[in-house]
Amino acid sequence: MTMARKLAVPIIVAVLAFCGLILSACQHAPTAPVASELFDLVVLGGKIVDPDSRLEAVRSIGINGGRIAAISEQRLVGKISLDAAGQVVAPGFIDLHSHGMVVPSMWMQAFDGVTTALDLEGGSLPIPDAYAIAQDEGRPLNYGYSANWAAARSAVLAGTKLDGHFLTNLAAFAKPNWQKLATPAQSAEILGLLEQGVQQGALGIGLLVGYARESNHEEYVGAAQIAARYGVPTFTHLRHSNAREPGGVIEGHEELIAVAAMTGAHMHLCHLNSTAARLLPEVVPMLREAQRRGLRITVEAYPYGAGSTVIGSQLFDPALLDAQGISETDIFYVPAHKRIESREELIEARKSNPSGPAVIAFLDEDNANQRAMLDLAVLYADAAIASDTLWWVRRNGNPVVEPVWPLPEDAYAHPRGAGAFTKMLGRYVRERKQLSLMEAIRKASLVPAQILEDAAPQMKRKGRIKVGADADIIVFDPDTVIDKATYANPRQPAEGMRHVIVAGVPIIRDGTLDTTIMPGQPVRGPVGRLPVKSTTAQRPITETDVMTAVRNLRAAAGLR
Ligand SMILES: [Zn+2]
Repeated sequence: MTMARKLAVPIIVAVLAFCGLILSACQHAPTAPVASELFDLVVLGGKIVDPDSRLEAVRSIGINGGRIAAISEQRLVGKISLDAAGQVVAPGFIDLHSHGMVVPSMWMQAFDGVTTALDLEGGSLPIPDAYAIAQDEGRPLNYGYSANWAAARSAVLAGTKLDGHFLTNLAAFAKPNWQKLATPAQSAEILGLLEQGVQQGALGIGLLVGYARESNHEEYVGAAQIAARYGVPTFTHLRHSNAREPGGVIEGHEELIAVAAMTGAHMHLCHLNSTAARLLPEVVPMLREAQRRGLRITVEAYPYGAGSTVIGSQLFDPALLDAQGISETDIFYVPAHKRIESREELIEARKSNPSGPAVIAFLDEDNANQRAMLDLAVLYADAAIASDTLWWVRRNGNPVVEPVWPLPEDAYAHPRGAGAFTKMLGRYVRERKQLSLMEAIRKASLVPAQILEDAAPQMKRKGRIKVGADADIIVFDPDTVIDKATYANPRQPAEGMRHVIVAGVPIIRDGTLDTTIMPGQPVRGPVGRLPVKSTTAQRPITETDVMTAVRNLRAAAGLR
């Protein structure tokens, strides 16, 4: 802290204390007319926990036109009123990492307290089409997309015709060939599609390089340069995350950190818990030091020690298991409801039902040491909680896309899609007291809003309970809120969310989901976004630069 700041703090405290006195004395004057106003919706008498103002007190909220219009100690009157007595009232959770950008997945996430679901690690393309489809079909939660690098590669290298549809993006990802080394001309075309997406309001660039390890390094740098030029983040699934070299976890982080330093781009690291896994004790100090040196690196994690994908995935290729530090007995095979017991059994399962869901424990939450490692990621300072939810899949392998509720009996997904956020509230806050309620709410709402607010100024109105903020609000019982989804039976909505309000409209009211309304709004950067600055890499070096550098060197050496 500098001397000026040292002096400023007591002055600010004194001013705030003085303002506090004035405010409490005057509070009845401005709220008197408010109490007689008829709001669209009021939330009455809950304990507000707001991570921005740090307010933690019983208040009522008046909502008009999808925004918070009043926060008052008095009882407010609304066309609709929701009772919040004995409940916590918080900003709705913002999930930076949702691959379930379809209605049924969002309904499940609503019970988890999510009001904004964004697909940023993956994303979509073309950006105008992705937003138009969501707007036409309607979404229960606010939604948004990054420009999808994997899709751009699939278009250029595998001839996929992109149309912004969820299923097209899945198909583009499933194709072979998009992962390979591109020619310089192809890379330029891929980067051109990404830049166009950013100009059209994408929230950043989604970089699934971990699924295309052979892809060009210069293309990854190029994507970061675009992000830096337009002032948007990149969202990376690290290229390397093997438990052992080569292609190890440290190398994966080295690339992200180096590119942040080389380009000045805001590099967001996805699911620190699952990529760093048992090397978290080594990775965490690396990241902290990189951040301390001023690199713009942000981090997210989900509070589970296992990941999930289909048994036919490359991840479970017997030839590659060793390098990843995985044994076949670490794999829980869902259709058989048991762990795989031998390599022969794994090979047979991959052959007979490649789309059968499988869960792979990278950290065992029942082992105290390994849970402590998981918590290094979950509790990492300023890490956002982000679910990495997948879409729900039927036993026949088809994704659940149509709006059905409850989900079909055989629908399967990793439990994080139903409980990532309530697990924080129930386990980390209430049961284990590892986090304050305020801090858990901050990691799930204000932190993700701040990660995005340079790229999408509307995020300054989210993640906060204040007058003028978007009315994305959750009301839950802090004594009972809990995740219910398990690996064996993930299809169980979380419990404890009493009301969930999206853009001023309650989609969960008194614990009941309203499937008839789609209040979700787009979260999008400016359409026609312009570069924010010219980066040093692009500014040609002038003679003056050289002369200045020489002069500085000579001065440093004591020469004239
Ligand atoms: Zn990922």
